[in-house]
Amino acid sequence: MQRVKASEITESCRAMGFALAGVCPARASDRAAEYRAWIDAGMHAGMSWLARDVEVRLAPGVLLPGARSIVVVADQYADRSSDPRAEAVPRAHGRIARYARGHDYHNVMKKRLHALADALRERHPGDQFKTCVDISPLLEREHAARAGLGWVGKHTLLIHPKRGSWLLLGALVTTLDIENDTPPTSVPDHCGACTRCIDACPTGAITPYSVDARKCISYLTIEHRDPIDETFHAPIGDRLFGCDICQDVCPHNSPRPGERADGEANPAYASGRASLPLLDVLGWTDDDRRANFRGTPMMRARLDTIRRNAAICAGNALREHDDATLRARLNVIAADLNEEPMVRHAAARAVDQ
Ligand code: SF4
Ligand code: SF4
Repeated sequence: MQRVKASEITESCRAMGFALAGVCPARASDRAAEYRAWIDAGMHAGMSWLARDVEVRLAPGVLLPGARSIVVVADQYADRSSDPRAEAVPRAHGRIARYARGHDYHNVMKKRLHALADALRERHPGDQFKTCVDISPLLEREHAARAGLGWVGKHTLLIHPKRGSWLLLGALVTTLDIENDTPPTSVPDHCGACTRCIDACPTGAITPYSVDARKCISYLTIEHRDPIDETFHAPIGDRLFGCDICQDVCPHNSPRPGERADGEANPAYASGRASLPLLDVLGWTDDDRRANFRGTPMMRARLDTIRRNAAICAGNALREHDDATLRARLNVIAADLNEEPMVRHAAARAVDQ
């Protein structure tokens, strides 16, 4: 069987613009018991696919029979040149999570991973390759840590010691036997005694190395398709789509005095749009939603969920500063029997506060 050197592959990945690349054996998860306990406790919330594919997720050999190696890559979507906590959004705007501001990473990463798979397939026609970006049942963070790309922090995201955690992960699972000619150095856990992410999470969703999706604003504003429990409305603040708080406060995402930020963000993820005016979103049609979100990860949001989120953010904005136009718009939505019930409910709650 012909072996391939990991350094050849990781060099190709770097030439393709990936910020980080590494290779690890396609071993089963070391955290199977924790994963099962997390699912059994219902912490995956409405993400039923996470409970359906447990055995596949825990063993790459089930995902791709005969899998021997995993190439793990990371794109950097923001850098640590400025303090993320200092980013302000205009009044009565809803904030967008950083990863969702530019091009959809599913497309940006898959294109290059497919090119890598095609090049390897040509040289190794007897082998199988499976590209994985987000939706495939693979525990990318654990494999990324094994491949030496960083460590998994207490907020459960991968952190690179110099680049921080603004990273999107992708992988290529293969039957190819990739020889780690420069074996990955495992990155030690630098969280230490820090608890900043746990303390800052407005809903108490984080316990060390575990996030309860039922309480996580990222889950609630992106994946949750029903009314959001009222106890979460105030903690959502101005977060229209996703939440970056646990990453904003992480010391590994802030500039270090006297040190240049290591690694620039991939321009594909850059966007001048950190927020959207809530009044506009509340008045959107589905055509408006598509026109605004096309090509970005925000396309995932349905019209009723993004307007529900906008109504919740608007209620929080009104508590800070009254805004007659915004209040009037919420009142119209709350009184309109033809409105989506979820949006009506959120608008009524927002003006009642
Ligand atoms: S994304 Fe926000 S709500 Fe979710 S764990 Fe992090 S800080 Fe908490
Ligand atoms: S904020 Fe602190 S505890 Fe949380 S991930 Fe970052 S370093 Fe680890």
